[in-house]
This record gives sequence, structure tokens and C-alpha cells, in this order.
Amino acid sequence: MSICFINGKFSPTDQCGIPVTDLVIQRGVGVFDSVRLYDGKAFALTAHMKRLEKSARLARIDLDDGAAIEKITGVVREGAKRPDCPDGGNCIAKAYITGGDVNENGRFPKPRHFVIFESGGDTPPDEYKLGIALQPTGEGRPYPLAKSVNYLVGLIEGAGRDDIRECLYCPDGKITETLRSSFFIRREGRIITAPVGMVLDGVTRGIIVELARENGFDVEERCPDVSELAKADEAFLTSSWKEVVPVVRVGDAVIGDGKPGPAASRLRQLFKANIDKWLDK
Ligand SMILES: *Cc1c(COP(=O)(O)O)cnc(C)c1O
Repeated sequence: MSICFINGKFSPTDQCGIPVTDLVIQRGVGVFDSVRLYDGKAFALTAHMKRLEKSARLARIDLDDGAAIEKITGVVREGAKRPDCPDGGNCIAKAYITGGDVNENGRFPKPRHFVIFESGGDTPPDEYKLGIALQPTGEGRPYPLAKSVNYLVGLIEGAGRDDIRECLYCPDGKITETLRSSFFIRREGRIITAPVGMVLDGVTRGIIVELARENGFDVEERCPDVSELAKADEAFLTSSWKEVVPVVRVGDAVIGDGKPGPAASRLRQLFKANIDKWLDK
């Protein structure tokens, strides 16, 4: 069962709520970050909390000079160790900072915070074995560096097809990222992924780029052109929960030979072998 920390205590999530006056409900003003927990230990917690702080600043949500972030960091650590943390502490902690009830000319001085601990659930093993399909869209994500709660554009652009896992943002024909993951192709012996700034500073993305470079891969940070998909040897996405998942089709374009590629598999292996390095002590 999912648990949530709000108003100073942990409770079952279905007993938690926020007022309907909160601007996250009325205007979509809110940011969050998802931290993966492995056996009750948070993965890359500092990087996630730094990004949460950055997201809040970009959304002009007030943070009392970082005290809120420190508090949330403590809550993630505490929740991860609780006996009622879902799946024996192998789950996801989602920390939210909402706009609260007060809007001062586009500044939000009275935010609310809560952290949900829930089962990550839904990556079928077939996704790693067979790969997934994405739906390309010409839309982009506004304020790419903020992890906003507003996924409306991406959800609509990827909606309505059972064979599609997520949309792939391709504004002006340049590939950036997917609905909730960072995106990579391998082409002419190089791993190519969009630069931070054009996309969210994905924590898994950063680790994969680091591991790839340390292990002899050539990594180029630029937005691939949509036309390069047809010439790519493989593609994959990364996120905290999914780690590394091969992508075998984008719209009607089959990537490479339509099967998961060796770089995705090697990088996932390297990621798994190095998890300890980024685990909370
Ligand atoms: C959460 C998210 C990611 C993945 O970030 P991680 O830190 O690797 O989990 C990438 N892109 C978008 C748009 C996201 O919302």
C-alpha cells in the first residue's frame, strides 16, 4: 500500500489530500521529483533534491532558503526505512512542491509539500527484452529544466494507442526527450543525446553519459534530427524507474533491425553494476 508524508506525518495515501484552492489544482503550478529506492536506500538523492530545488525556483515557488528541500530530503530517507514502505523499500518516492494558495504576480510564497512512497510497478520484463515503441510529436516541453507536474501536452500527444509507450518530443524536427525519460540514439559508433537545457537534467541520463564515456563510448550531446532515426543503429531511453529501456520503433520508423541494441544492454548492465556508487549510505 502506498504511504504519504503530509502535514507532519506519514499516512496511507488514500487518506491524504490537499485543499481544492491549491494552485497545483487550479493552474497546474507545481513541481516534483521521483527518487528510486533500492532496498530502503535512496538512489542519487542529492542530485534529485538539487533538481527539485531548481524546478521550484524556475516555477517561482518560494523555498525558505532551502529549508524545505532539507526537510523533504529527510522525509525521503525516513520513509525509505519504514516497515510500511511499499515493496520492502524497492519503490519510488515522489516529492511534490505545489504552488499553494497564494499567487503574488506569478510568485508563489506559500507552497505545500508532500512525499508519496508507491510501488513503481509497471515495467514488464518484455520491455527490456523486446524494446518499446514511441510516438513522435512536433510539440515540445515548455521550461525544459523544470520537472513540472503538468504533463498534459505529452500525455495527449502519446495517447490512444496500446502499442505506444510514450510520446517523443521533436520540436522543429529536433529530438529532445520523451514524456518522462531521456532519449538516446546510437549512430556511426556514437551515442547521441540532447544537451541539458534543451531537456531536463535527467539524473539517470547524467549517470549513463558518465558510465558510457568511462567505458569507451563516444558520446555526443546534441539534439538528433528526426531524419536520423531511420539511420540509427539503435535507440533507448533512461529514467530513474526504468533505468535503460531499448526503443525499437518511433512512429512508423523501425530503428536498426527492430531489435534491442547492444549499447542499451551494455549500459544497463554497467548501470546495475554501479548502483552502489550512488546509493544513500
Ligand atoms: C523525470 C523525467 C526524466 C527522467 O529523469 P530521471 O532523473 O532520469 O528519472 C526525463 N525527462 C522528463 C521530461 C522527465 O519528466
